[in-house]
Amino acid sequence: MSSVRYVFAFEEADSKNKMLLGGKGANLAEMTQMGLNVPPGFTITTEGCLAYLEHNSLPDGLMDEVRAHMRELEKKTGKGFGERSNPLLVSVRSGSAMSMPGMMDTILNLGLNPETLQGLIAKTGNPRFGYDAYRRFIQLFGKIALGLPDELFDQAMERVKHRVGAVHDVDLKAEDLKDLASDFLAIIAERTGRAFPTNPYEQLEIAVQAVFRSWMGKRAVDYRRQFKITKDMANGTAVNVCTMVFGNMGNDSATGVGFTRNPGTGTNEAYGEYLVNAQGEDVVAGIRTPKPIAEMKNEMPELHPQLLELRRKLEAHYKEVQDYEFTIEKGRLYCLQTRNGKMNARAMVITSVEMVEEGVISKEQALLRVNPGQLEQLLVPQLPANFKGEALATGLPASPGAASGKIVFDADTAELRGKLGERIILVREETKPEDIHGFFAAQGILTSRGGKTSHAAVVARGMGKPCVSGCDAIQIDVRERRAKIGDTLLAEGDVITINGSTGNVYAGEIPTVEAEFFEELGTLLAWADKSATVKVFANADTPTDAGRARKFGAMGIGLCRTERMFNDTDRLPIVQDMILAESVEDRQKALDRLLPIQRGDFKGIFKAMVGLPVTIRLLDPPIHEFLPTAAQLEFEIAHLRNMKRAVRSMGELPETLKLLDPELHERYIETIDGLTTSLGKYQESPRVDALLAKKEAMLHKVHVLTEVNPMLGHRGVRLGITYPEIYAMQIQAILEAAAECVKEGVEVYPEIMVPQVCTVEELKRVKALVDKAQLGVETHYGVKLKFKFGSMIEVVRACMRAARLAEIAEFFSFGTNDLTQATFSFSREDAENKFLPFYNENNILRDNPFEVLDVKGVGRLMQMAVQLGRQTRPDLKVGICGEHGGHPEAIRFCHYVKLNYVSCSGPRVPIARLAAAQAKLRESQYDERIFV
Ligand code: PEP
Ligand code: MG
Repeated sequence: MSSVRYVFAFEEADSKNKMLLGGKGANLAEMTQMGLNVPPGFTITTEGCLAYLEHNSLPDGLMDEVRAHMRELEKKTGKGFGERSNPLLVSVRSGSAMSMPGMMDTILNLGLNPETLQGLIAKTGNPRFGYDAYRRFIQLFGKIALGLPDELFDQAMERVKHRVGAVHDVDLKAEDLKDLASDFLAIIAERTGRAFPTNPYEQLEIAVQAVFRSWMGKRAVDYRRQFKITKDMANGTAVNVCTMVFGNMGNDSATGVGFTRNPGTGTNEAYGEYLVNAQGEDVVAGIRTPKPIAEMKNEMPELHPQLLELRRKLEAHYKEVQDYEFTIEKGRLYCLQTRNGKMNARAMVITSVEMVEEGVISKEQALLRVNPGQLEQLLVPQLPANFKGEALATGLPASPGAASGKIVFDADTAELRGKLGERIILVREETKPEDIHGFFAAQGILTSRGGKTSHAAVVARGMGKPCVSGCDAIQIDVRERRAKIGDTLLAEGDVITINGSTGNVYAGEIPTVEAEFFEELGTLLAWADKSATVKVFANADTPTDAGRARKFGAMGIGLCRTERMFNDTDRLPIVQDMILAESVEDRQKALDRLLPIQRGDFKGIFKAMVGLPVTIRLLDPPIHEFLPTAAQLEFEIAHLRNMKRAVRSMGELPETLKLLDPELHERYIETIDGLTTSLGKYQESPRVDALLAKKEAMLHKVHVLTEVNPMLGHRGVRLGITYPEIYAMQIQAILEAAAECVKEGVEVYPEIMVPQVCTVEELKRVKALVDKAQLGVETHYGVKLKFKFGSMIEVVRACMRAARLAEIAEFFSFGTNDLTQATFSFSREDAENKFLPFYNENNILRDNPFEVLDVKGVGRLMQMAVQLGRQTRPDLKVGICGEHGGHPEAIRFCHYVKLNYVSCSGPRVPIARLAAAQAKLRESQYDERIFV
């Protein structure tokens, strides 16, 4: 006998040890130990699974332990495993440390064979129930333990239903189910070449091995890869063996799933669905449409209070909204499973705030409970509130948000078309776990069957994708790849829109709008702001963006990219004149025209952000970016020249035509003469010549400005040093805008930021321009200006020389987009288009460093720069404005290295605010090991 123990009864297992027992096993132990009415059972540990996978056979002693525990179950239930007169039946299900929804079905009614079946029938006096239990067992065992395709059984079922004229499964009589069981047994014998095992222990052993093997099955491996579930998060699956209780023992029996609160709206109400006289499988698979729990009050009045009591106990114990499964067997309520409820972001936020108000959890717990990334769902597109289109059909609102896309009828096609960048709505009768890759690819899910707790609904909600389920008006013909709603025929590739918040399905594409803040979100984020030490700013380039960011709760602007202003159509020609200027005077003339425009831009942003800091970055990109490409100019020049030549040749056209075709000449001579005269003015036109000259000059400039590596070339502060008049104009515009605001009584906190700095000398030169402009503006406007001058930190040398830079800079802002490129020596576009996916797939780099901050490399440099900078200037303000600034993990790091703020795009501000609070609340769990 081996010394390792593999099997633990629910009442003795250590419910804290999810790695060993799996989430479900730990939960069954916890539920049993907290006194809920759980059917007795035991868990075979993940260690058993790993040992099995290593040796491809069950470890010594495991089945002995199982037998001993089965004997215990026999004692507890008074039934016998394989005993004819009073048979003990069990369910067998997988469960790993991480929840992997729908990864594997449960085998029900294990222990049935022709003998025990007769006992079950005799005991219940219900042959229909007995045969139904039997055929379910054979079907599930065939599919799960023996790996036979589901369709074989579905088809056999359809044949029997057709033969006897039954519409629903429940219409089948005992005799029909008996026939069906025989058909199933024949299918299995034929497909496996072996008779169905009748010995219950043999059944159990085969089932346990199948569950263990499923851990390495394709579906599970794909799932773990997709959700980045590593071995230290979940390693192997446990097996839970649990006494069967029956929800299909008549009208005093039922089965259902519940949420302690409404997972769609967050409302504090008993939510869920149940079916009388049915097994759990019927609810989950959506075979029969279940009833809302509220109806239980009328239908099973004595059971309803028991369910409410269960709900109360669950929340009081777990301090979390629970998603539970229950079965009522002959008037007795059993809780089979409970776990933290997966809810959409809105419900998460609402329940968090309400549970604090009810005293169930603390504010800190509420803040930690919501995954910041999930808030993105609240910013999911919705149909406009005043939208009044007529729906083609209405199903159940199973997961909120709206999406449009092309209809696709199977997951493989969805995956394929999704990879081509198409927007997809996956349309199926019902979904199964094997469709998971289709969910990843789709914008939304539509099913014709199943309730709000069906597979499609649960998975879509978890992913934050819109889902309409149970839309039974849709008839789907997968083979013909078309669907029908009433008279409307829909083919694969046709565009539809689904609204998962209402259940409506519309033909064609409907433009969606951004969601608005709601009260509870405001409350939660206000608590977050109180907890957090890192502030959240936004990257915004226009007054409109700034205003929107402020609504999202931005506490300042961390990056205003002035080049975006240069690109507006009214400015671009002036910017081009500035670039084409051959003398300082000409350049100054263009800059003089730009100055009032820029001043207006800045004033607009200052006003939108009144009272908050606004960080304006001086011009960054290489100036050739404001000119057309050489190819474009060459094309235009060739056209202009061709036109001149063509106009010249038109004079000869009438004579040539006369020679060739006198009749045609006669017919068109007037038109040709007219055209020749009109176009003649372009032959020697000064306008054309001037345009040509300008294009040629531009082309010349483009050639002059051409660089081998423009991103490492003449850009950023290098541009400001070599063309000081450009930076001088921008600085002047910022300070004048600030002065005008001050005069108008608008509180402003401008911050002037210099990009691409690598040495303190650069900063000194720009600072000299600032000092000069400040003096002039203050004198001219008669006001004192308060502003900050600082540097972006986005080249490696800047990190190394941060102590010196801080002599001049009053603040730093990490431009982690460029800093990542610089640290890796990767050009982002080349990396992402060429080798980075390969690097990620082959684990050379775990993540794309342009999306996930590379803490070990880039982060280390940042930490050093912060420390060096603050050695010189202890109150140095430091932030981040690269894309990483909106990502919760990066924010956690920024908190750790004591940044003052993060800056991200406006819509990510709420996510960043919550992440900043969580970083603070979890700071004790974060240390130097992140760099290892
Ligand atoms: C950065 O480099 O991170 C940055 C914010 O600047 P940009 O993306 O404009 O280069
Ligand atoms: Mg940059």
